[in-house]
Amino acid sequence: MIVTKLRIGDANTMMAEGGIQAADKPNDSPAIHYLDAFGGGHFAAKPELLRKLVTNAPEAIQWLNKLGVEFDKEPDGTMITTHGGGTSRKRMHAAKDYSGAEIMRTLRDEVLNRGIPVIDFTAAVEIILDENGRASGAVLMNMETKELLVARAKTVVIATGGAGRLHYQGFPTSNHYGATADGLVLGYRVGAKLLYADTLQYHPTGAAYPEQIFGALVTEKVRSLGAKLVNIDGDVFMHPLETRDVTAASIIRECSERGKGIETDQGTAVWLDTPMIEYKNGEGTIEKRIPAMMRMFGKYGIDIRKEPILVYPTLHYQNGGLDITDDGMTGVENLYAAGEVVGGIHGRNRLMGNSLLDVIVFGRNAGINAAAKAKETAIPTSLTLKHIDTFNEELETTDSASGKASPMLLPSYARRK
Ligand SMILES: Cc1cc2nc3c(=O)[nH]c(=O)nc-3n(C[C@H](O)[C@H](O)[C@H](O)COP(=O)(O)OP(=O)(O)OC[C@H]3O[C@@H](n4cnc5c(N)ncnc54)[C@H](O)[C@@H]3O)c2cc1C
Repeated sequence: MIVTKLRIGDANTMMAEGGIQAADKPNDSPAIHYLDAFGGGHFAAKPELLRKLVTNAPEAIQWLNKLGVEFDKEPDGTMITTHGGGTSRKRMHAAKDYSGAEIMRTLRDEVLNRGIPVIDFTAAVEIILDENGRASGAVLMNMETKELLVARAKTVVIATGGAGRLHYQGFPTSNHYGATADGLVLGYRVGAKLLYADTLQYHPTGAAYPEQIFGALVTEKVRSLGAKLVNIDGDVFMHPLETRDVTAASIIRECSERGKGIETDQGTAVWLDTPMIEYKNGEGTIEKRIPAMMRMFGKYGIDIRKEPILVYPTLHYQNGGLDITDDGMTGVENLYAAGEVVGGIHGRNRLMGNSLLDVIVFGRNAGINAAAKAKETAIPTSLTLKHIDTFNEELETTDSASGKASPMLLPSYARRK
C-alpha cells in the first residue's frame, strides 16, 4: 500500500528536468561513473551503496525504456546523452527537460495497472514499532479531516523525499510543496541513524527573475547544452560544468565578495547566457531540447533564445539522510528507506542525474527486499509508541525541546484553518 501526503505525483520526482545518469556508452563504464560520483561527493559516499548505484544504472535505464519512458533518441534509436556537472563522459539520458514527469507518468501507470492501493492526502506522522523494536506500521493522518489512523505492516519503506521547504539559511527552493523532511523525523525518532544531515545542496541556477518564479529550477541541462555563467562585466567567471557545490559557491562569491552580481528586487544574480545554446548547436535547439525552460520564461515575456536570464542558487536537494545498508534497510529492523530521504549514496554532494537514478535503483532494491522480508514476517500484534515517550524524555534532559511540532507536513507559510 502506498500512502502519500498530497496526491500521488506531487513530488520532486515529477519536477525533475535534466535527466538520469547511466554509463551505457562504449567510451564509458560503471567504474568511470563511480569515480566521477565519488570525487564529486568529496570521497564521502558509502562505497557499497555507490557501487550498487552505478553498476545497476544501465539496467535501470533499460527497465524504464521497456516500461515506456520516451527517452530522447537519435533516428536510429540510440539514446542521446549529454554531460552534467562533474561528469567525465556524456551519460545523461533525458526526456527533453521534463524527464521526471515522463518517468512518473510511466511508473504511475504501472501502479494503477497493477492495482496497488494508493491512499492520497494521508501523511505518515509516526512509525510504529513492535515490542522487539521492529518497524510494524505507521500512524497516519488524513490531511483534510485530521483523523488519525493506524496502518499495521510487516515491513515499512520510507520514501518521503527531501527538505527544500524548510528553506535552510533563508534560501528559496526548487522543491515541491510537501518537501518538509518528514522522513528524517520519522526515522530518527525510532532510532535510525542520520548521515551527513548538514549537507544541503544549493543548485547553482535558480531563477532570480522574474519574481513569480524566484527559486524555480533552471536545469543544469541548460549549461550542458552550452550556456555560460557571466557576471555584470560580461565575463565568464568559471567553467559552467563544475560540480554543483563548487558552482553555487562561485556564483555566491561573485555576487558578494567580488561585487560582480546584477541587482534584482530579490537580491543579486548573475547572467546565464542561454542564446549561446543556439549559437553553438544551431537554431531550434532550445525549443527541441529544453522546451519547458523556454515556456517558463516565455510566460513572462522573456525569450531565452534571444536574451540571457538571471540566476542565483536555490535550495534543491538533501545530500544526507537516513543511513541504510545495501539491502535498503535502516538500522531499525523491517524499516527500509529509499530516495532523497537516504544519506550516504552520494557522499556530501550529489551530481546531476544521480538522484533520479538512485530513486529507481534503490527504490526497486528496497521494494524487492522489503517484500521478501515481509514473506518471512508475521503480522505484528503488539504495537507500541513507547519510543516517543523515550524521545520526549531525552529532549527534556538535553534541554533541546523547541516546542515545534514535527514532522512539519506543510511549509510554515501554508494556509491553515
Ligand atoms: C525541480 C527539480 C528538478 C530536479 N531535476 C533532477 C534531474 O534532472 N535529475 C536528477 O537525478 N534529479 C533531479 N532532481 C532531484 C530528484 O528529482 C529528487 O531527488 C528525487 O526525485 C526524489 O525522489 P523521492 O521519491 O525520494 O521523493 P519525491 O519524489 O519528492 O517523493 C516523495 C513523496 O513523499 C510524499 N511525502 C512526504 N512526506 C510524507 C509523509 N509524511 N507521509 C506520506 N507521504 C509523504 C511527498 O508528498 C511525495 O509525494 C530534481 C529535483 C527538483 C526539485
